Amino acid sequence: MKCPFCKSPDTQVIDSRVSDDGDSIRRRRKCTSCSKRFTTYETIELRMPQVVKQDGSRSEFDLQKLRTGFMRALHKRPVPTQLVDDAIATITQDVLALAEREIPSRRLGEMVMRELKRLDQVAYIRFASVYRSFQGVDDFQDAIKEVQRPAPAKATSKAPTTKDTKDTKDTKETDDLFAAKDAKDDR
Ligand SMILES: [Zn+2]
Repeated sequence: MKCPFCKSPDTQVIDSRVSDDGDSIRRRRKCTSCSKRFTTYETIELRMPQVVKQDGSRSEFDLQKLRTGFMRALHKRPVPTQLVDDAIATITQDVLALAEREIPSRRLGEMVMRELKRLDQVAYIRFASVYRSFQGVDDFQDAIKEVQRPAPAKATSKAPTTKDTKDTKDTKETDDLFAAKDAKDDR
């Protein structure tokens, strides 16, 4: 760390202490050229990444939008709010743990799907129908078969073939997922 006064590259740490909450380290430094002292702080970078949409545009990670996405899928479903909060917290943690500066909206969508699948099968299929742009009854039948299939072990159970090959089309709708728009499923 170079000296902010004389710009000398040689400075010396004379004291170093962890903050009370353990979230940062404060260092007193002394310049070996001009002898002036200054302080630096080291903190953990915990920053939510930017969300990159299909069209390449970026936006801030929006917790409220994430919640809205969940609530829409879970509309009138018997799922306790606490479990929804937990699911959202899990996703937030996972996103942070990536430590990436950007995350594709598609990846976020997959995380939501994963959580919904655990929470409520109806909500999962609702969400999937928008997310994967279901075109017909067959798509719903496939999704229903998917949730009814006994969960294999614990690993990320990727549906084989068919779904994966539709990648580009599948993500078309993704960008709208977290955007507020008139809910058509209010019945
Ligand atoms: Zn100096």
